[in-house]
Amino acid sequence: GTTSYIHARVAPLGSRLILVLADDRTREQRVETVRRDFVANVSHELKTPIGALNLLAEAVAEAKDDPEAVVRFSDRMHTESERLTRLVQQIIDLSRLQNDLLSDDATIIKVGELISEACEHSATDSEKKDIEIVTNVESELYIHGDRAQLHAAVSNLVENAVTYSPEGSRVTVSATHEGENIRITVADNGIGIPNDELDRIFERFYRVDPARARATGGTGLGLSIVKHVAASNGGTVEVWSEPGLGSSFTLVMPAYTQELDEEQQ
Ligand code: ADP
Repeated sequence: GTTSYIHARVAPLGSRLILVLADDRTREQRVETVRRDFVANVSHELKTPIGALNLLAEAVAEAKDDPEAVVRFSDRMHTESERLTRLVQQIIDLSRLQNDLLSDDATIIKVGELISEACEHSATDSEKKDIEIVTNVESELYIHGDRAQLHAAVSNLVENAVTYSPEGSRVTVSATHEGENIRITVADNGIGIPNDELDRIFERFYRVDPARARATGGTGLGLSIVKHVAASNGGTVEVWSEPGLGSSFTLVMPAYTQELDEEQQ
């Protein structure tokens, strides 16, 4: 069972009630709990595609006199091994992110390039579903951070937008400079996310609809990677969504400016 170390204190203050959340555990204890849960989840998630591959391998062996069945089963083996590959890659990405919270591979990144590479990453999937990806990026936008990590983050957002949108719809990726920040927004007209689940979707392995996620090959890790990347590069993530209307995710990153560079030198 799970033990909760979190207790709530309700303190009356005038006519208002203030809820104070306190966590008594030491940081080490919390890290250990997270690690244990993660390992348990990883084993569970890996068993699903591996189990499927085992069954399919047996089915192929038994169907050797039925060429059509062999093709069907091997197609499914291919799908499952792709899922396994993506899952392992995302687990590696996530544990790397956890190990070096502060990236030392920071470079100056041109936001326009970051976005076109992320869209390129989903080009095959979006073409398959006849989804048009429209980009709307102000010129001369720069951020400072780990290029590979930020590429993974924006790609995950675009990939999700394509995955959770109907055929023939449109995904918009835009970037603007607002105050001290660059806002990179990926918006879709897809299925949306129920409001009461919005704060959970960034948790590892959390999926709104596990059955659908399995069908689309989702791992439940994409958004936790996005959240970690934002945090370790000095940014945040915002989400807006309305079931049936669509979703929009915004990566808010400090803008990189020349003055900042001179200040640091
Ligand atoms: P997954 O690999 O399942 O897409 P993510 O961590 O990227 O995992 O997302 C977690 C869950 O959040 C998804 O399973 C899906 O239910 C929901 N979700 C993420 N992005 C979108 C989106 N653009 N539209 C609707 N639902 C989304």
